[in-house]
Amino acid sequence: PIVKLSASTTKGFFVFYAVSMFVSIIAYCYIYVSEVQRIQADLIIKNSELMADARKDPLTGLLNRRGFMPLVKTCVKENKLFSVAMCDIDNFKHVNDTYGHDAGDMILRNITAIIQREANGYDVCRWGGEEIIVLFDGLDINKATHIMELVRQSVEKYVTVVGDKEIKVTMTIGVEQHRMSYHEVDDAIKIADNRLYYGKTHGKNVVINSWRKPIGLPMG
Ligand code: GH3
Ligand code: MG
Ligand code: MG
Repeated sequence: PIVKLSASTTKGFFVFYAVSMFVSIIAYCYIYVSEVQRIQADLIIKNSELMADARKDPLTGLLNRRGFMPLVKTCVKENKLFSVAMCDIDNFKHVNDTYGHDAGDMILRNITAIIQREANGYDVCRWGGEEIIVLFDGLDINKATHIMELVRQSVEKYVTVVGDKEIKVTMTIGVEQHRMSYHEVDDAIKIADNRLYYGKTHGKNVVINSWRKPIGLPMG
């Protein structure tokens, strides 16, 4: 050694180093644990945001099927009175082909707003493409049909302006109420869809709420 230290000074250094090592290990552990906790909290928030996004349609902001079906399942499980309405824009492919896909998107958003306004308080879902479904929790078929008739009339009157073009569209709607005799959660949805199909083949721009053409499904 360049400088020879006394035994007590050596001991002092030893204690100093031991204590400072101990304190720094505690400090690093503390920083590590609090950082892990912060990252975990961030992940929980991000995860719930992702879960909410996974249940939503980005174009319209409506629920998608993943977000919608659990609501229907709950209604069935709790034996609630409810109805569903399946809507589909008429001749939408022609609208896209004539005015462009962006105009089609704008119309889809406008129709979404109309449905949300008329069916205020009820869950609306983009079922797929240009099909939208509404869940009327607590409403029978007559009340649900009344609201959907208002939707149909509002859609019929609404004008979407794209540049110098004024575009009008119509919508066909099938309605059904969940019945005790239905075994599957989506029986009412299938019947509403069949009624929509019936409307499509019988002039379009209509709300259909009664059985005209049963296709292997329980009678409503
Ligand atoms: P129908 O009256 O029988 O319903 O005729 P349709 O042309 O509306 O029906 P079809 O199923 O033949 O076509 C649906 C069209 O909807 C096809 C597609 O171009 C359009 N479409 C689906 N999703 C979107 C979308 O997100 N944006 C736009 N712009 N168009 C869409
Ligand atoms: Mg269509
Ligand atoms: Mg369609």
